[in-house]
Amino acid sequence: MSEIATHLAHIRETLPAGVTLVAVSKTHPAEMIREAYEAGQRIFGESRPQELREKYETLPRDVEWHMIGHLQTNKIKYIAPFVAMIQSVDSARLVEAIQKEAAKCGRVIDILLEIHVAAEETKTGWDPAELHDYLATNPFAALPNLRVRGVMGIATNTDDEAVIRRDFDALRHCFEELRPHFGEAFDTLSMGMSHDYRLAVACGSTMVRVGSSIFGERDYSK
Ligand SMILES: *Cc1c(COP(=O)(O)O)cnc(C)c1O
Repeated sequence: MSEIATHLAHIRETLPAGVTLVAVSKTHPAEMIREAYEAGQRIFGESRPQELREKYETLPRDVEWHMIGHLQTNKIKYIAPFVAMIQSVDSARLVEAIQKEAAKCGRVIDILLEIHVAAEETKTGWDPAELHDYLATNPFAALPNLRVRGVMGIATNTDDEAVIRRDFDALRHCFEELRPHFGEAFDTLSMGMSHDYRLAVACGSTMVRVGSSIFGERDYSK
């Protein structure tokens, strides 16, 4: 087995049924994604639209691509024709722009609402109170090309498990509070990365986004 296949097998063993694994392949070359694909992985997460587009063009068509990084409205066009899910939806402006591009392609795009729960100021996402006010205007009733599938979030980058747990509990709380607003399709709570996905699963995650534990450390200088 290749190293990537070994890592994948190990992670899958630790995930309960019903938890989806997104293999975060950002910065890594298409050959490494192909190795994971050959080991049976089909869902990959990327954080840059052009990079995602290039990889889409070189890899098999049954890959499900998830956009997980901050998305600028003028870049949606690169991914709108094929992206399976946009997890990093963090503003009303972005919601409207994705609707527009999805309509142009005649598609319905699955999205997650990214919620800011971490202590760091720099992390993107909706403040829960702001999101609450936004949803009170019932915006999605007029956005037929979007399907809101759930919420996504990133915990504080710390070794303190109590802090990470607090963040995951906050995300789960948002998820449960919003559920009645959206109904059945709202079934995804995306939280947990390489260093904290086990705790995320214990806190109710249904989708983990794991990069470095599968592909190794990223080199951003390339
Ligand atoms: C990069 C990234 C991940 C994966 O991080 P690892 O620590 O490599 O597992 C998960 N989620 C988001 C939003 C990311 O940007």
